[in-house]
Amino acid sequence: MTVDRDDRVLGCLLGGAIGDALGAGIEFMSWPEIESTFGPEGVSDFTPWYGHEAPITDDTQMTLFTAEGLAEAAANDTDPVEEVWAAYRRWYHTQGGDLPEGVNPLFGLLAVPELLERRGPGTTCMGSMRDGVPGTTDEPLNGSKGCGGIMRVAPVGLAAKSDEGAYRLGCATAALTHGHASGWISAGAMAVMVRRLLEDEGLWEAVDAGRAVAAADPADFEVVDAIDAAIALAGQAPLRGTDLESLGKRWPGGPGEEALAIAVAAVLAEPDPNEALLLAVNHGGDSDSTGAIAGNLVGAHHGASALRPDWRERVELADVITEMAGRLAAVGGNQ
Ligand SMILES: [Mg+2]
Repeated sequence: MTVDRDDRVLGCLLGGAIGDALGAGIEFMSWPEIESTFGPEGVSDFTPWYGHEAPITDDTQMTLFTAEGLAEAAANDTDPVEEVWAAYRRWYHTQGGDLPEGVNPLFGLLAVPELLERRGPGTTCMGSMRDGVPGTTDEPLNGSKGCGGIMRVAPVGLAAKSDEGAYRLGCATAALTHGHASGWISAGAMAVMVRRLLEDEGLWEAVDAGRAVAAADPADFEVVDAIDAAIALAGQAPLRGTDLESLGKRWPGGPGEEALAIAVAAVLAEPDPNEALLLAVNHGGDSDSTGAIAGNLVGAHHGASALRPDWRERVELADVITEMAGRLAAVGGNQ
């Protein structure tokens, strides 16, 4: 059955938020801690955290700002990387930084009071925005390959009109804050996967397309290996969340290539989109980010209609996310 394009765009953003929220309460818990708190299957629903019953975290907050930057670029016919950078400066203001000069304090997402809350923002994102200088792939800001570049990149795949455009823009927006090649190549590959899913390709084909662009980049020395490990692991399905920990090291999913690998393995191994989200968070790693990335992928593939209705309704800021998806869907693939 063909899924409506607008439903895929909404599914990508809403699925990401749901995965983020499912992992929010266990982001910093080891598997033994999760197991002793929630039982042998781990979490099976949202866990109250940050004072909300289904809380999004910095992953979804920054994804919304990525989307807003891309929508602004389309509306004003301006440079998408510059617009995304401007959007991240507005995001940084929501986290306590100065209001960028000339910006209306109630512009766009700044008018959403819930976004002013801190939900575990990454130290690299915060540090790079504090310094106020955008990084590029040619002039990296730092040596960070944290997953802060990839966990916010899905809107790029929704707005791109070609694989090349998705890869270039995905890498460029991640490199604004993350200087290590694996921090931005993982984001570029993810953007291509999302774009292919929007084009009605299957999950395995989309993953292959993301792998191919990473393999063609001479700067890569480990993202392709991480994707290959994920594909191999998915071939051993069914998997448990703890199986996914083998795709990471100290804190599985913390680095960009590991977060991508864990999300890819989860969505390839588990055909049910809602079960895939639970699989993607029930491990001792960076659960909210791996859940968010997995959610972007399954949502873009299956559409929002395939996500659990009660999750779609209960997840925090569902209305704001739905409105932003509508803006991006209206833009179409023009970048
Ligand atoms: Mg987070």
